[in-house]
Amino acid sequence: MSKIPMNTIVEMDGDEMTRILWKMIKDELLSPFVELNTEYYDLGLPKRDETNDQVTIDAANAIKKHRIGVKCATITPNAQRVEEYKLKEMWKSPNGTIRAILDGTVFRAPIITESIKPYVIGWKKPITIARHAYGDVYKSTEYRVPSKGKAELLFTGENGETFRQTIYDFECAGVLQGQYNKDSSIESFAHACFQYALDTKQDLWFSTKDTISKQYDQTFKLIFADIYEKEYKESFEKAGIEYFYTLIDDAVARVIRSEGGFVWACKNYDGDVMSDMVSTAFGSLAMMTSVLVSPDGNYEFEAAHGTITRHYYRYLKGEQTSSNPIATIFAWSGALRKRGELDGNKPLTDFADKLEKACLDTIESGIMTGDLAVLCDKKDTKKVSSGDFIAAIRQNLEKMM
Ligand code: NAP
Ligand code: MG
Repeated sequence: MSKIPMNTIVEMDGDEMTRILWKMIKDELLSPFVELNTEYYDLGLPKRDETNDQVTIDAANAIKKHRIGVKCATITPNAQRVEEYKLKEMWKSPNGTIRAILDGTVFRAPIITESIKPYVIGWKKPITIARHAYGDVYKSTEYRVPSKGKAELLFTGENGETFRQTIYDFECAGVLQGQYNKDSSIESFAHACFQYALDTKQDLWFSTKDTISKQYDQTFKLIFADIYEKEYKESFEKAGIEYFYTLIDDAVARVIRSEGGFVWACKNYDGDVMSDMVSTAFGSLAMMTSVLVSPDGNYEFEAAHGTITRHYYRYLKGEQTSSNPIATIFAWSGALRKRGELDGNKPLTDFADKLEKACLDTIESGIMTGDLAVLCDKKDTKKVSSGDFIAAIRQNLEKMM
């Protein structure tokens, strides 16, 4: 069998247990079938430290060039990691750096299997959360009000002071917070959501709290409505999909009653919280895919989980671990499928479909990693090591090739 050719994608290697899984996936599930063509960046912490994090910036710029990247989970250093890796500095989160360069929205969707039932029994199809990844409380300025005093909101325009309003006349101690967002970022967020919904042929829901937040959230609502009317309405109608806006309270109730199969666009904080709720309700973080989509059509695929540190320390002691590689495999299949779609490379998109099917077939056959075995109510499930799980996926894949 000859290997499937492909154009370049950007490959970003990572840390700890996921770095081990990364190599196993490439060796067993990709290289034997595809003429893997990647521009490799090592985002493992030692390399980031050695290059003063330049490698992360280079990788993000490479995604802008090749349009598609696939990323392994990486350590975001804290004080303990600085000590552990003897780092020159507490480098920033690579995901944050890449996001800032690509200006994106993060889409997170669960991988659904027959054997793992969602906690919400009505959910039949995945629910994708589209999280605006800029501003709001994540970029806010806070103040612990020590005692009695007056808090004001003051905006000074280019040509002098233009707006001043009392927030609260404190009669005692309290707290204060100022947050912001920008039209340009909200517009990018809206475009990314509309494009993703069209790409995946799913309805788009958007929710905020505009009844209470009459300027802030209202701005989000109006920008979405405006962009939809002007640029997407026709294509949505043609694709037979729907966009609607609703209050977040109503959205939460509808989401629970729904059968899934749509994209739920959320402001930064709502998306942060709701994606944990949705992924847990569907089963496991190890079954959650994540893709960063930029408004000019660049894609970065990754797993939603971290580097599985606890498993890595056991691996270093020579123990077999049963770490789940599914989300990382789906990051690769997502990247390969997108490459195939952009280039009209049908064998590559077919391969991505088969790889995903081989994963799901393996789980359905009862062979799975420990995190899934505890969720599965089937009788004869077999908990296997990561290596044996990947070997079983390869067997299923070979049958299809
Ligand atoms: P984590 O790596 O996601 O792991 C937390 C726990 O969840 C694991 O100990 C494991 O539970 C379970 N788990 C997660 N993924 C799993 C998988 N694929 N298979 C089986 N079990 C899985 O989160 P963390 O321990 O908080 O973070 C570790 C490192 O990852 C940190 O340095 C953090 O900075 C980094 N991180 C990176 C990203 C990213 O690059 N996107 C995201 C989050 C965190 P048990 O131990 O109970 O089996
Ligand atoms: Mg969170």
